[in-house]
Amino acid sequence: MTDLQPTHDIDAVFRQKGIPFTRQRRLIWEFFAGADRAATISEAADALRGEGVGQATVYRTVTLLSDLGLLARVQDRRGEICYTAPPIGHSHPLICGVCRKLVRFDGDGDVSDLEARLAVETGFSIYGHHLEVYGICLECRARKSGDNGE
Ligand SMILES: [Zn+2]
Ligand SMILES: [Zn+2]
Repeated sequence: MTDLQPTHDIDAVFRQKGIPFTRQRRLIWEFFAGADRAATISEAADALRGEGVGQATVYRTVTLLSDLGLLARVQDRRGEICYTAPPIGHSHPLICGVCRKLVRFDGDGDVSDLEARLAVETGFSIYGHHLEVYGICLECRARKSGDNGE
């Protein structure tokens, strides 16, 4: 549906912050940026073990990338914390709580109505929002109806 290839100039972000963009950090970033679904830290560590990247490094790097706004933290239905690389520009994730498949959408036409109403109701001057939507994708729904329950 959307082009999941992020177009962040990640080198520039690191350069600007004066943080070295090491080979291991790049590998970890590329893992999340190339995935079509959100992944946990341990999944990233499993995938990168062959590259000599340890779990502690993955953990620290994911924290760093997420502090830099280069990874977004989301949850699956079991409350498992996953990360995904947001594409550049403004969009919102719709996440399948079962398989963590990700669809990006731009809901700002609707969100701006809500913001305008909130501004009136609360007197806040609103400058931003953070919106994630969770559901169960078509494939997972089809799979589920074939099983008997969970
Ligand atoms: Zn799914
Ligand atoms: Zn928005």
